[in-house]
Amino acid sequence: MRQPWRFSWWWVVGGAVIALAGAAAIARQSLEQQRALFETDARIVHRLLSQQVVQHDAILATLALLQPAPAAPHTGSPEQRLPALYPRILSVQRSDATTPWTDPGLAEAERLSRQSGRAALAPLDLQSGRYRLVLASEPASYALTIDLQALVPWTEWPMAAETSAVRVELVLAGQHHPIQPGRLQAGSRFAFHKVVAAESQPFDVVATQTVGWRQLPWARMLAWTLAVAALLAAVRHLQRQRMARRRAEELLRLGQVARLNTLGELAAGMAHELNQPLTAVLANTQAAQRLLDDDPPELATARAAMAQAAAQARRAAEVVGRLRRAVERPDSAGQRQSVDAVDAVRRALHLLEPECQRRGVAPALDGAPALDVMADPVALDQIVHNLIVNALQALEQVPAAQRRLTLTLRTVDGLGELAVADNGPGIAPEVLPRLFEPFFSTREGGLGLGLSLCETLASSMGGSLSAANATTGGAVFRLRLPLAGDAA
Ligand code: ADP
Repeated sequence: MRQPWRFSWWWVVGGAVIALAGAAAIARQSLEQQRALFETDARIVHRLLSQQVVQHDAILATLALLQPAPAAPHTGSPEQRLPALYPRILSVQRSDATTPWTDPGLAEAERLSRQSGRAALAPLDLQSGRYRLVLASEPASYALTIDLQALVPWTEWPMAAETSAVRVELVLAGQHHPIQPGRLQAGSRFAFHKVVAAESQPFDVVATQTVGWRQLPWARMLAWTLAVAALLAAVRHLQRQRMARRRAEELLRLGQVARLNTLGELAAGMAHELNQPLTAVLANTQAAQRLLDDDPPELATARAAMAQAAAQARRAAEVVGRLRRAVERPDSAGQRQSVDAVDAVRRALHLLEPECQRRGVAPALDGAPALDVMADPVALDQIVHNLIVNALQALEQVPAAQRRLTLTLRTVDGLGELAVADNGPGIAPEVLPRLFEPFFSTREGGLGLGLSLCETLASSMGGSLSAANATTGGAVFRLRLPLAGDAA
């Protein structure tokens, strides 16, 4: 059994995929931006720290050049004035032949400096927050004690030291000195490290930043998801609207609505028009009866009354003839062509999809996958449509959960047959012979023209329409039409 329609989850799945892909792209772009910002800041930090550190070499070289230090009483020696000029220089020490280093670390650094010909670091203890740099020269050598925290030029610093998520450290010989605490957490990790541009103090500037879930651009991602949902809803709405419009156009094409409305109006007009000649026929025949009963009978007047009655009856017949012409489609025989009846059924089911859904009926399409018959396509559509609508109306008398409608297409006795079977109340035996009479209806407000029109259309195409009660209950209507092409 084939279900003629099904709900499409593709909209939901497709929407979710687009929303997720877009949100992921937004998150990635934001991460890239944050990484670029991080790297720019880290490079600035490296440059600033390099500029500071390299000055220490210059200061020591200047001290060595200026010696022996002229101890001017009012100004003091240059090394005594340095801490005032450079707050990060905590002290300057001097050693010569008469005053050797008291600290063996400084003596060792002097030895290294003498070997390398440039300033050398005394053994490190970065936890103390300071380090010492020694330059060996003659007659005196100099040592600077430098405050690591004061080394940072905060006025030019590119980040807010207290709140920034970036951690910055100076690393040397496995020892770390944090300059900026940052905020490390689980998530995507950015890292930067570069040794400062001073050979005597090869500190590694290490910057790290982690971006957690909370730093993702949730507002933008949400906005995107909502935009996708709104767009899809709009497209779906437009599509639904277009389908509804097409359905309405199709109904109009079938002429079902327009035709039945016209027929309704026509019937009311007919009743009015028929009333007058029939009353006249009755009056005239009654008068003729009286005249013939007279003694002697007034034959001439009675004849005239009968002629009147005949004329009025002819008028009534003309009125009925006009109605027949309106119901029949004189051109339908000329428009017969090969049509796939399965397609016609599918079209009608598509058209009536909302009606079926409203009544909780899921029609089942059964039998041949294709059945080519000779028919006027519009007339065929009209018949199928009428039969399904009738079945749906009959099914209203059955509880919704039990409603069944089956459309079966097959070849019977060399003809193509469509059987429309429902499990409604069926057709009462006294109703069965009158079913195809025009204006016969058991439904309140029913016109009683549908089946009569369908039968007329079916026979005008060389086919037939019959009705029966199914053995399993309910009614079954059989439309038979000549087969087309090879099958015929
Ligand atoms: P209308 O629908 O206006 O009554 P129709 O010509 O379509 O006119 O139907 C005529 C009558 O046939 C209906 O009033 C109803 O009694 C009967 N009928 C049609 N289809 C069915 C059906 N599937 N089951 C039971 N009765 C039906």
